[in-house]
Amino acid sequence: MAQTGTIYLVGAGPGDPDLLTLRAARLIERAELIVHDGLVDPAILALARDDARLVSVAKQRSKHTLPQEDINALLVREALSGRDVVRLKGGDPLVFGRGGEEAEAAHAAGVPVEIVPGISAANGAAAAAQIALTHREASSIVSFVAGQCKGLKDQDWSGLAGKGRTLVIYMGVKTAPQIAEKLMEDGLAPDMPVAVIENAARPQMRVLRGLLAGLPDLVVEQRVKSPALIVIGEVTARTDTALANVALEAAR
Ligand code: SAH
Repeated sequence: MAQTGTIYLVGAGPGDPDLLTLRAARLIERAELIVHDGLVDPAILALARDDARLVSVAKQRSKHTLPQEDINALLVREALSGRDVVRLKGGDPLVFGRGGEEAEAAHAAGVPVEIVPGISAANGAAAAAQIALTHREASSIVSFVAGQCKGLKDQDWSGLAGKGRTLVIYMGVKTAPQIAEKLMEDGLAPDMPVAVIENAARPQMRVLRGLLAGLPDLVVEQRVKSPALIVIGEVTARTDTALANVALEAAR
């Protein structure tokens, strides 16, 4: 019987190949089989060997997605047949990436797993937009939430946003109106500064700034598309967009 392969759950970071860890880059470069989701930038997939098999399980909101159980089964099947599998995921595998479920499926099947962390969108976007997620004068708490999950209205976000706090919302573009409403119902000031960072750490990145009450209109008027992050808190008003864009241009 073939020796069981290893499943590598690898974080691909927010997009720029320069933001991969060395471990991730090495695993991608030597992989025979890469199972990746839709968020992984083509520039990163381009690092793979010419003869590598690339399998997309396209994971983007409202696009066709292989059900999670099928992804788990695919990873386990390949590993049990003796192949190492690089499961490449946007950002960090364990932040809203369902990496936990894939690791559990592998453990249940007796397949060894290695998890390689990646730069999560919050960290990549904050750096690219020059927004400090924490700041001695403005924020000492930062929280990550998912804006798309079922029962958004019933999720308890109270206390996560407000003075001295930064709230980072993943997958919140489509639900921006409900998010703004929910936060204001929780008592957040309508003039709390917000930023939307679209395509962070990619050439087409945009950083938009506004106030909480205007978030739904900002998203519609600027035609914000996924992937984008919404950051809520005073830290977003400390750097201005122009400054961040100058830095961005200089880096290009
Ligand atoms: N595991 C990933 C998150 C997956 S959820 C991570 O750690 O980053 C997918 C969401 O991540 C997107 O809807 C978006 O909100 C955010 N995201 C991922 N890449 C992004 C990017 N380059 N710019 C802005 N947001 C991004």
